[in-house]
Amino acid sequence: MELQHMFAQISGAEIARLTSDLVRFDTTNPPGNERPAVEYIADYLKPFGFECHLIEHEQQRATLQARLKGSGERGALVLNGHVDVVPVGAGSWQYPPFEGVIEDGKVWGRGSADMKGGVAAMIVAAKAVAQAKLPLKGDLILAATAGEEVNMLGARSLAGLPDARNWQAVIISEPTSNRLGLAERGVFWPEITTYGKTAHGSTPELGVNAVMMMVKVLSELEKLEIPFQPHPVLGNFTRSVNTIQGGVKVNVVPDQCSVMVDMRTLPGQDHAELLRLLEAFLARLEGEIPNLKASIRLTYELPPAETSQNAEAVQKFLSAAKTHCTTEIPIIKVPFATEAAVFVPTLGVPTLILGPGDPALAHQPNEFIEVIEMEKAAKLYAAAAVEMLS
Ligand SMILES: [Zn+2]
Repeated sequence: MELQHMFAQISGAEIARLTSDLVRFDTTNPPGNERPAVEYIADYLKPFGFECHLIEHEQQRATLQARLKGSGERGALVLNGHVDVVPVGAGSWQYPPFEGVIEDGKVWGRGSADMKGGVAAMIVAAKAVAQAKLPLKGDLILAATAGEEVNMLGARSLAGLPDARNWQAVIISEPTSNRLGLAERGVFWPEITTYGKTAHGSTPELGVNAVMMMVKVLSELEKLEIPFQPHPVLGNFTRSVNTIQGGVKVNVVPDQCSVMVDMRTLPGQDHAELLRLLEAFLARLEGEIPNLKASIRLTYELPPAETSQNAEAVQKFLSAAKTHCTTEIPIIKVPFATEAAVFVPTLGVPTLILGPGDPALAHQPNEFIEVIEMEKAAKLYAAAAVEMLS
């Protein structure tokens, strides 16, 4: 009876209003400005017994940890989501991106799907659990993070707290259309540069053309074998040369050319090893191609992350979904990098990625989220809290 009442407290209308309120905070990152949004969430949860702690990053930027205390017999369940959003871009929007218009059972705006709708669903779920006054054996933590879209600033701060060692599981409400993601590929972005010697464009024989050197490097790079084990859910390691820059003027032989390569790695691929392999590859080419001088620099990386389907937290989540929400949850590949890339490698904590919203709408114009999906997600989070904490 108690539980039925708790689930009945979760209303799509409340989640929609909250999503709309959150969309109206412009948290475009950079610069972020997440602080007012997370303060708003803290004020929302405080009346229901949550202890709210702000982790300050810099001016106008903060991450929220809102805690509903349990007895401490079990580790905490963390409901986690980021509140920063990507820039609106040049595309035209049917509804203004920061007004949070609610229409036709949808909330419209930048960040509605990625992922203020998911955050709102978690807040309303956490509130319902608090109101049900269940005896909790572990803490329920709502974490609203800053900086996910650029460098995972908030997640890194959270994972660094001593308290994080005591987490039982993390659920991240990134948009997956309420399907469960347990594994994601890593991000590995090297920049490769070739160096030449300038000369007047009319006397190329006096220079060394860095662009033409890069052509040779790229054709060899395409043939380079990079070992990996195909993953049953994530598929293959991929690589793609996505930017190239070289030269200053049509009549000057270029002395420098750089490319950026987007590599997506699989569990089992070690990034340090991959960098060594690429360094050795360039060193070999320098020995083979006359006048070639090249360097490599890793500009950004996130490790691959995977939680076993057999992990206790995953089994509890799936059984909670079945028992309380009569839902079978399909398991999918997470198409993008999430804060699991911080939590899994640093804490070894089981991390489940499941949230409302179509992942294809993330970072797109005319982003929206369906209210019914948010309500369903909120019920799944509340069910998980019951299963894992009581
Ligand atoms: Zn996101």
